[in-house]
Amino acid sequence: MYLYNSATHKKQEFTTHTPGRVEMYTCGPTVYHFAHIGNLRSYIMEDVLEKYLRYAGYDVNRVMNITDVGHLASDADTGEDKMLKGARREHKTVMEIAQFYTDAFFEDCRKLNIKTPDVVQPATGLIDEFIRVIQALQEKGYAYFAGGNVYFDTSKLERYYIFNDHDEEDLAVGVREGVEEDLNKRNKNDFVLWFTKSKFEDQALKWDSPWGVGYPGWHIECSCISMKYNGEYLDLHCGGVDNAFPHHTNEIAQSESYLGHPWCGQWFHVHHLNTNTGKMSKSKGEFLTVSLLEEKGYDPLVYRFFCLQSHYRKALVFSWENLDNAAVTWRKLIDRIAALNPDDGPVDEAVKAKYEEHFRTVMGNDLNTAQGVTCLYDALKAKTNGATRLAILDSFDQVLSLSLLEKAAEQRRKKAEQAKNARTSGGYTVTGEGDPAIDALVLARGEAKKAKNFAEADRIRNELKAQGIEITDIPGGATWKRV
Ligand SMILES: [Zn+2]
Repeated sequence: MYLYNSATHKKQEFTTHTPGRVEMYTCGPTVYHFAHIGNLRSYIMEDVLEKYLRYAGYDVNRVMNITDVGHLASDADTGEDKMLKGARREHKTVMEIAQFYTDAFFEDCRKLNIKTPDVVQPATGLIDEFIRVIQALQEKGYAYFAGGNVYFDTSKLERYYIFNDHDEEDLAVGVREGVEEDLNKRNKNDFVLWFTKSKFEDQALKWDSPWGVGYPGWHIECSCISMKYNGEYLDLHCGGVDNAFPHHTNEIAQSESYLGHPWCGQWFHVHHLNTNTGKMSKSKGEFLTVSLLEEKGYDPLVYRFFCLQSHYRKALVFSWENLDNAAVTWRKLIDRIAALNPDDGPVDEAVKAKYEEHFRTVMGNDLNTAQGVTCLYDALKAKTNGATRLAILDSFDQVLSLSLLEKAAEQRRKKAEQAKNARTSGGYTVTGEGDPAIDALVLARGEAKKAKNFAEADRIRNELKAQGIEITDIPGGATWKRV
């Protein structure tokens, strides 16, 4: 597989420390609020990447953290703890907030067919490990104690900026965020490993440590959690592009200083979801959630499909119009799959293998999901029987996870049900949800229309509308549904 590597700024062949095995790490959510669909874009693309690697034959160990402490309002260690802010907003304890939004996150993932990683570790469950690594960093001279906190000393590194060539002035912490600069820091980009002092005193979660009662900084958790569950050599680190600096940059600094050797060879960053007014973010107040998409009548998988239609390294523009277009395309795709006959003969394994080979090639080219989606249409047009075409689609869906065959089977069942319930009179057929009284009314409306008694036809339509029934005219009759 070829993947773009943010650390080397080029597309390169994917390699692993142990042949055939991928140690994969994903930065998880900070569980102080619902995930917005922009955050979820990253998790969708990372899910496709993981499933592709498994499809390509790798054994994958995927690890993810849950941030339930230490993530301050600014990624540069200033402002208030996000968890504390969430707890105050909802008059709950920090742990109640963490549990509630962790559950909500995995519920969203379930609806979007995002597999749960092999290991999920909340930060608060591994504090002893963080303390151990921070102590080791201090012993090695990479960390210092100042003003009650422990800081990582970035001046001890030969190279700090991995993903970009920032002008240091641009990163002047405090100036950038419009908040007070931390005068304990020896260098502008030093970051907190352990807090015992901060400007807010009511931090709910605190632990004993060699430096006093306090809590960890945000960045240390990902290094420690990954080193614990992925081992000393990480093959693939994933996250949203806005985590590249400072979060991932700091993860590399800590991990490599602690280990004394290179840590992670491959960095995968998913780009932003934008709206017409800019990047989607929680700080702007209103943000879009999976529940909101459902309330508006969208299948969450339509959003997954929408994400797959474009490349993970391009900013994606969300609008309702764009989502509607995806919904229409999605519905037509399911209709076409539903029209295939699953029982028209044996699966032609040779044909299937040929299509799979092509799919592996396009997806293996920096995870080109848009072309992966195109492969679905190629499979629909394949010169072979329905059973083989369905087997190919099923194979691709192991990676794309759009529930294509389940949705198509559902569609087929619905159609069969409707056909069973069809009522016909004088060449006019009514299909619906199988209620004879309503079928009779819809038939009567059809007869009224035929007799050009439009007033009566409208009266019946309105009567049904009042009962929540919607009629759609189709060639040779009408169909109805409850709305
Ligand atoms: Zn992280």
